[in-house]
Amino acid sequence: MGLVVIGVDLGGTNLRTALVSQNGAVADKVKEPTRASDGHAKVVQKLIESIKAQQVRALRSGNAVAAVGVGVPGVIHAHTGVVVKSPNFPDWNNLPLKKDLEASLALPVFIENDANAAALGEQWRGAGQGIKSMILLTLGTGVGGGIILDGRIWAGADGMAGEIGHMTIMPDGRRCGCGNTGCLEMYASSRGIVMTYQERSSLTAMITSEEIYQSARDGDVLSGDVLKDMGRLLGIGIANLINIFNPEMIVIGGGVKDAWPLFIESTRAEIRKRAFEYPATRTKIVPSMLGDDAGVIGAAALAFQKLNTVH
Ligand SMILES: [Zn+2]
Repeated sequence: MGLVVIGVDLGGTNLRTALVSQNGAVADKVKEPTRASDGHAKVVQKLIESIKAQQVRALRSGNAVAAVGVGVPGVIHAHTGVVVKSPNFPDWNNLPLKKDLEASLALPVFIENDANAAALGEQWRGAGQGIKSMILLTLGTGVGGGIILDGRIWAGADGMAGEIGHMTIMPDGRRCGCGNTGCLEMYASSRGIVMTYQERSSLTAMITSEEIYQSARDGDVLSGDVLKDMGRLLGIGIANLINIFNPEMIVIGGGVKDAWPLFIESTRAEIRKRAFEYPATRTKIVPSMLGDDAGVIGAAALAFQKLNTVH
């Protein structure tokens, strides 16, 4: 009988679960709607049912489930498994998710911020395989981040480290939902790109980030400049990370990655201008590889690490 863990990626829209083996093989991927608006009791109940269904699938394929790893967006007290607050689950305040799940599942459960989990996933089975020190930036609607040092998530004193999206890159810049102004997230996310475009154009109609990428590819100068400027601000953030952490690799994921050729040269130019030459030259900057699977694979990697059976 093989040993597997259940990797869970609890997003505001989708709940993804999968069985992951010790060598990172992923089986029985399930994606279901989260229905965050149903409130915390129903979402936790749904989570328990989905995990139990995966336990049954594992047994049927002759595997034993050793633990559950869960990635959750928001401020997570990783050591205690408490969701302090989450923008995707507005009614979750200091929710003891680890305790609630363990009480119903009779399995060890490990909770982590979703971006930290995704970073560990990319390091284990994605772009960062064989890399010990790596930073993931997820450029989506917001900007998530995860820092892997010596093969482990850098958790910080409370498990809340890695909030790269809330690095200040523009003093007195746009107000961010976190309370700060000028956070990287307000410029290098799909939302930030749309805001920059709208500020500079006379357009009052809605436009999506994908439409901006497409018009840049079609040669529209304004769209191209918006993406180059986004790349420059991203480069400022990455130059800071390189000087502080001297990582081997920076991995960039999330939907904005689709615009890679439109921003990456500005990013690299800004890094050359600002970061120390040696670490800046040796840091590889690459797109993520795992896509939507990074979260479940990383949550599983975390569970294996906590069980001390991986690596
Ligand atoms: Zn912020």
